[in-house]
Amino acid sequence: MNTTSTNEARASLNFLEQIITNDIAEKKAGGRVHTRFPPEPNGYLHIGHAKSICLNFGLANKFNGKCNLRFDDTNPTKEEQEFVDSIKADVRWLGFDWEDREYYASDYFQQLYDFAVYIIKKGKAYVCEMSAEEISIHRGTPAIPGKLSPWRDRSVEENLDLFERMRKGEFAEGSHVLRARIDMASPNMHMRDPVMYRIMYAHHHRTGNDWCIYPMYDWAHGQSDYLERITHSICTLEFEVHRPLYDWFLDALDIKEDRPRQIEFARLNLTYTVMSKRKLLTLVQEGLVNGWDDPRMPTVSGLRRRGYTPASLRAFAERVGVAKRENVIEVGLLEHCIRENLNRNAPRAMAVFNPVKLIIDNYPEGQTEELPGTLNPEDPESGQRMIPFSKELFIERDDFMEDPPKKFFRLSPGSEVRLKYAYIIRCDSVVKDDEGKVTEIHCTYFPETKSGSGSTRKVKGTLHWVSASHAIEAEVRLYDRLFSVPEPEDPDTVPDGKDFRIHLNPGSLKIVHAYVEPALKVVEAGRHFQFERTGYFISDPDSKPGHLAFNRVVPLRDSWAKKQ
Ligand code: ATP
Ligand code: MG
Repeated sequence: MNTTSTNEARASLNFLEQIITNDIAEKKAGGRVHTRFPPEPNGYLHIGHAKSICLNFGLANKFNGKCNLRFDDTNPTKEEQEFVDSIKADVRWLGFDWEDREYYASDYFQQLYDFAVYIIKKGKAYVCEMSAEEISIHRGTPAIPGKLSPWRDRSVEENLDLFERMRKGEFAEGSHVLRARIDMASPNMHMRDPVMYRIMYAHHHRTGNDWCIYPMYDWAHGQSDYLERITHSICTLEFEVHRPLYDWFLDALDIKEDRPRQIEFARLNLTYTVMSKRKLLTLVQEGLVNGWDDPRMPTVSGLRRRGYTPASLRAFAERVGVAKRENVIEVGLLEHCIRENLNRNAPRAMAVFNPVKLIIDNYPEGQTEELPGTLNPEDPESGQRMIPFSKELFIERDDFMEDPPKKFFRLSPGSEVRLKYAYIIRCDSVVKDDEGKVTEIHCTYFPETKSGSGSTRKVKGTLHWVSASHAIEAEVRLYDRLFSVPEPEDPDTVPDGKDFRIHLNPGSLKIVHAYVEPALKVVEAGRHFQFERTGYFISDPDSKPGHLAFNRVVPLRDSWAKKQ
């Protein structure tokens, strides 16, 4: 490649890819690329994590490198095996493979302990006996330098002895911590003698009761990166101010070769969505949603149940790209990605949500025809399905108006429409109940207009339908966005004493009993459909023989694409 095309190739790379390309060119870490996805197993993954998974595994794939799955399990009180299992299932489902590289920060507890001893021996860490509250007060504020701990100048021997006794369980929780000895006047608060270890008499989901001192995130994370020979430790922007500490620990350990490098990018924020695990936990615990995999949740398990596919989430992550500054992505883009994906892949079917009976007076009583319908017009290989047609059908109540405005191209007295895959019909009369509600629409059909017969007769509207005696009932869950405002966490939109929960959308779930084509009778869970003219749907795990249940993924109308 000449210089110009090299520059062009680089310009199309995102900033992380540029950094990695340069590092490879400079033979840093011997030209290796090794990333990691480091979830804390304290909840279910959400779409922000999915972004991070696609990024870390994606970079490894792109640069012929590797990506580890590492559980950052340094806080025994919040972590559980259930979360470990769900995280593994989600990463796999998204289409990524960590092969045999499944690691746990807790695997390194001994190594981290030995590293800490090394740092103590260099006089760069000390055991402090102040309480958490005192430490916090002593730390000062960004404008006011902190005060030195009275325990800061203990001898190395004393520190080694106390640290060992901390580990042996000789001290009460909260009575002693190990702190890095850095700079209590640093403008960066993270450098004001941060805590490296605290005492916790808690059962750990993997190490049981072996340990009663646990490393803090900042101490554990960078050293775990080093032990796994990570080259690029990619994290979200809030860790930018932790980076000097990340590097300080590596320096204190005299690590020169194979030093991991922390690089930050802007976390994914989505409109109409809250993302933090803590807030999602609140929704689950208070029963405001039906569990972590409620199809309205932005969790990977929720999105899966909602009907998002791995390919659509990967495409979304790719289109969102990586930014260096905080931003908010429109949820419409996510919805656009699943529409694009399902438009190509989802077979079509007809479903009537709010039925009204349509009777074709001149159609022979008792006759049934099997009419072919295209399974997927986007996929010429997909073939056809057969749809029964008979004298009595259901159509959508909304597709009929007795007294329509101009430009209503659906059915009204005297008007003609095509019934999809079938015939042109004309509405002749209606029957109403005592309240004036239409109960039957009577029509005439024109046999010569059968779809596929070459008839050239034109009408403006085409309606979907199902045959009344053949249709199957199904529970259809019409999901909408969980919040009714674009930024539910924006403090300006939340009155004092309230929080994001006041923005929950009361209409985020409507359940209707629909009639669907009989071909769907035996559909197993997890199958996608486009219900024609309505939206994309997936059969829910609640579906059983005799009780079909579908979730709406998204309606057909694409507000995002229209705006572009
Ligand atoms: P939350 O703040 O939502 O509770 P977290 O950052 O505490 O999430 P972790 O389990 O620590 O959750 O995160 C694992 C990885 O996923 C980290 O590398 C983190 O930076 C990344 N991550 C978390 N949230 C997002 C997001 N919204 N966008 C991109 N990456 C994210
Ligand atoms: Mg975290």
